[in-house]
Amino acid sequence: MSPNGHLLPVPYRVVDRRLEAPGTVTLDLEPVRKALPLFEPGQFAMVHSFGRGEIPVSVSDIGTSGRLSHTIRSVGAVSDGLCEAESGQVLGLRGPFGTGWQLPKARGHDLVIVAGGIGLAPLSPLIRAAVAEPETYGHVSVLIGTRTPADLIAKQEIPRWPTAYTGVTVDRGDDDWHGEMGLVTHLLDRASFEPDRTTAFVCGPEPMIRATARDLVERGVPAGRVRVSLERNMRCATGHCGHCQLGGLLLCRDGPVVRWDQAEPLLSIREL
Ligand SMILES: Cc1cc2nc3c(=O)[nH]c(=O)nc-3n(C[C@H](O)[C@H](O)[C@H](O)COP(=O)(O)OP(=O)(O)OC[C@H]3O[C@@H](n4cnc5c(N)ncnc54)[C@H](O)[C@@H]3O)c2cc1C
Repeated sequence: MSPNGHLLPVPYRVVDRRLEAPGTVTLDLEPVRKALPLFEPGQFAMVHSFGRGEIPVSVSDIGTSGRLSHTIRSVGAVSDGLCEAESGQVLGLRGPFGTGWQLPKARGHDLVIVAGGIGLAPLSPLIRAAVAEPETYGHVSVLIGTRTPADLIAKQEIPRWPTAYTGVTVDRGDDDWHGEMGLVTHLLDRASFEPDRTTAFVCGPEPMIRATARDLVERGVPAGRVRVSLERNMRCATGHCGHCQLGGLLLCRDGPVVRWDQAEPLLSIREL
């Protein structure tokens, strides 16, 4: 990888901006000159809003000719700046960073893909890749939990995924909601999978990750076959600054996607 893509931001232009949900925006980006190396589903970029700063953001779509999408929730100074970016604005990107979901290792398996809130964004390229190869993978089940129906992202795309099962559950419904309510783990009963030949992919808030991974393991999915994406504050993204350390792992380099048998002992230590 070129040292530039790793250490210096490479200019990308915003070519489209869509409001996904209140406070959550998807930006489609194209390289102004040379593209960064191809991203894998689950990897992330350090996205630079000039004058504000830089934050880690996963890729939510990987297009041709270096086109990339990021789905960003506005929670603070830099993510606010990125969510306000208009078409034509130039941002800086470094990457690709991190381990990714490593979908090809799940060849021949049923796939259980579980998203909490904006956790669906890093899982979306994985889902697209899996359903594009129906002969390579077994049943694909996608389980999505969000706070409210309005918070759901990818609303147009979800019904078009040709999966064995796709379910959405919300914490709080509204007058128009006639679907499931409650924890996303409740949807595991609807998913179609043989535990001993299943690979699971889980992304969302940490309590949701713990509950989902534990439930999957109780149902017989081997812990080494449950992959979770862990988020910590990151600065350099190159394994040098130590901001994202979790036990012996530097999550920018050894994660964000790690196996549950690696993650569980670390997450069970308070305030690690
Ligand atoms: C590998 C990785 C991938 C990510 N992918 C996405 C994504 O696809 N879309 C998206 O919207 N966000 C993503 N995030 C989270 C995003 O990086 C944070 O929301 C962002 O850093 C907040 O920065 P800020 O300046 O906007 O707000 P700040 O003012 O810095 O923080 C606002 C709040 O967010 C918390 N926070 C800050 N950084 C993180 C972090 N890295 N993880 C969790 N909480 C944090 C802070 O503690 C604070 O409570 C990802 C984080 C990581 C580590």
